[in-house]
Amino acid sequence: MAQIVVLGGGFGGVVAATALRNKLGREHKVILIDKKQDHLFTPSLLWLIVDERKPEKIQRDLNVLNKKGIEYINAEIQRVHPTNKTVSTSTGEVRYDYLIISLGAEVVRDVIPGYRDGINFYCLKGAEVLRDELKSFKGGKIAVVVASTPFKCPAAPYEAALLIDAYLSKKGIREKTEIAIYTPETLPMPVAGPVLGNTVKELLEKRGISFNPQKKLVSMENREISFEGGEKFKADLIAWVPPHRSPAVVRDSGLTNETGWIPVDGKTMKTQFEGVYAIGDITANKLPSGMMLPKAGVFAHGQAEVVANNIAAEISKTGELKEFDGQGYCFLEMGQGIAGFASGNFYAEPKPLVNLKNPGRLWHWGKVAFEKWWLWKWF
Ligand SMILES: Cc1cc2nc3c(=O)[nH]c(=O)nc-3n(C[C@H](O)[C@H](O)[C@H](O)COP(=O)(O)OP(=O)(O)OC[C@H]3O[C@@H](n4cnc5c(N)ncnc54)[C@H](O)[C@@H]3O)c2cc1C
Repeated sequence: MAQIVVLGGGFGGVVAATALRNKLGREHKVILIDKKQDHLFTPSLLWLIVDERKPEKIQRDLNVLNKKGIEYINAEIQRVHPTNKTVSTSTGEVRYDYLIISLGAEVVRDVIPGYRDGINFYCLKGAEVLRDELKSFKGGKIAVVVASTPFKCPAAPYEAALLIDAYLSKKGIREKTEIAIYTPETLPMPVAGPVLGNTVKELLEKRGISFNPQKKLVSMENREISFEGGEKFKADLIAWVPPHRSPAVVRDSGLTNETGWIPVDGKTMKTQFEGVYAIGDITANKLPSGMMLPKAGVFAHGQAEVVANNIAAEISKTGELKEFDGQGYCFLEMGQGIAGFASGNFYAEPKPLVNLKNPGRLWHWGKVAFEKWWLWKWF
């Protein structure tokens, strides 16, 4: 009997555990550990901030996994011991034969002076605060600020700005509002190349949203946002993406490299430790272009399927091994009932080959359908 332990019940973890459960006989045990009790479908946070979703509609209880034959442990993971193949948690020690780490990226707010003046819409609580602030907003200056790279979902800050624009237009106060994006990036979604980046930039400009690239955030005290070099912007409302880092447990366990993330083989998602795989946002996955694979659920999902397939093939000694091929896609929600759709091969050489389909209603409904499918498929 093999015991496979999956760390994290987010995008990668839930897919990996479910795929393993479906592929392996019940004599093998699949365990999933997460400190949270609910799985959150993060892409819908963007609809939540403009009051188009309710929190309970975009979350699922991880206890449902128990009914599918996956043992879900609600605990804080405190240490990974790859040499003796155990994991320490707040509820005890767990042994593994195979370990899949999908612990994601965490945000760290208090490294920026005045961080309390910004609303972190990358979590449920912050998204709800932003929704309430937007509801009572009467006009003024709104800043969407990306503190640093890398950050999850390279499209999300741009989607947030476009959705806020559409929401305020509907409310009839767009004319009284200035919306500005500040980011350290050179272009939106730079890993996807300059054609896509410039298209998104033009889309923003058409909607009267100013795009301010190469701005390194220093502080936001009293809603006065300061950037390296001395530039300032006094905002009435700040929606921000705080700096990201890997969870302390993987750094303390010596699993990360100089990037602060877990290095992996980009095709097999194997780490340097025997039987230990890492997938999703927690990985440092260098592309042929020298840039890193973006942190997005679509990659966590694809990598989870590959890892689950390969572990099951190794245990059952049947089936073919697979490799993750770098394919990815993303809906770019724009409000007004329309969205764009970017897709391509991020492992292409010498650089990713990604294109953006013309925005339209079809892609918006595609994203809605994907949300429904995700919450049905895995829960
Ligand atoms: C606003 C927003 C919109 C997004 N939109 C999209 C999109 O449209 N498309 C897309 O592809 N991606 C999108 N993403 C990105 C996507 O959410 C992430 O890339 C994806 O969730 C990564 O999956 P993961 O399994 O690596 O980590 P996560 O899904 O973050 O899961 C990590 C899990 O580990 C748990 N955990 C962490 N540390 C511990 C610990 N010490 N002990 C116990 N449990 C722990 C956490 O509770 C969490 O449940 C979006 C993200 C945001 C914030």
